[in-house]
Amino acid sequence: EKMSPLDASKLLKHKRNIIILTGAGLSAASGIPTFRGNDGLWTKKYKYCDSAEDFATLRNFKEHPEALWEWMHYRLELCKQAEPNEGHKTILQFQEYCKLNGVKCHLITQNIDGLHTRLARQSEVLAVEETKQGDPSHGFTDCVFEIHGNLNYSRCFAECSKDLKEVQTPKSELSSEEQIPKCEECESIMRPHVLWFDECYTQELHRVDEVRSILDSEIDALIIVGTALQTSLASNIVSHCLMKNILTIDINVEPACHFGSVVEVCGKSEETLPILFSPFISKKSSK
Ligand code: NAD
Ligand code: ZN
Repeated sequence: EKMSPLDASKLLKHKRNIIILTGAGLSAASGIPTFRGNDGLWTKKYKYCDSAEDFATLRNFKEHPEALWEWMHYRLELCKQAEPNEGHKTILQFQEYCKLNGVKCHLITQNIDGLHTRLARQSEVLAVEETKQGDPSHGFTDCVFEIHGNLNYSRCFAECSKDLKEVQTPKSELSSEEQIPKCEECESIMRPHVLWFDECYTQELHRVDEVRSILDSEIDALIIVGTALQTSLASNIVSHCLMKNILTIDINVEPACHFGSVVEVCGKSEETLPILFSPFISKKSSK
């Protein structure tokens, strides 16, 4: 069923336990290319491979770590230059509203750009406790689940520890071989703290158990933003909610979720989210 963002916002009025699931489309307006879609990364050529799906794999990282690090460094620079857009900002304001009004709001993102987390750390209302450097949950916060990791971080490929290290911009005079970050403890190479296409989710790094227990709580609304729903955990979340007849709102330029009971809000998330959340963010401290 198609709906305007303002009509959809009325459906959220008395909801008490909400999941927001975001994907690459949310960050498109920040200048970070999506995978699928017209100028998606899919369409580019990759060294040794035809698609990002073949390229960004553990198998390929073992063989060509320098090529994957080169690509990750390039994408990290894009993300560092990017600013959160109106979509990220209104999601944060909605989370603040929820916190102040006793509504549970779980933000789960497939994005690895770290933009949600960067914003959340600036929020006084959410008062995110900074986990200490080296804690496996660093880069995660109570209010953002980065289920595919965060490309601002790396970890030891030999797994001598699970500590995360911030990825530094490499010096351009170095060869691509020399640009591979090395573990300070065991001298192994480091790997980007992201989930490759041929890897499984793990509890420690991707907090799947916590996501599952959120699903087992009494969720009463799911808001999907800018995702093609091609990854397994994300599509499991959606089918779980649809099976339980939970209100599901899909925000996309071209709706990705074609089930009868989904409320489709067509449009760019940076434009529709401020309208969808407008009744809530204008009266933050109504309690
Ligand atoms: P996707 O690229 O597969 O799909 C993007 C979706 O966003 C499409 O359905 C498209 O129609 C929609 N879209 C594009 N512009 C939009 C806008 N302005 N407003 C609303 N919707 C818009 O992305 P995905 O489903 O997130 O899955 C891709 C995988 O690639 C994920 O695993 C993710 O980790 C990774 N990825 C992440 C980033 C990032 O961190 N920003 C970018 C590209 C890919
Ligand atoms: Zn090590």
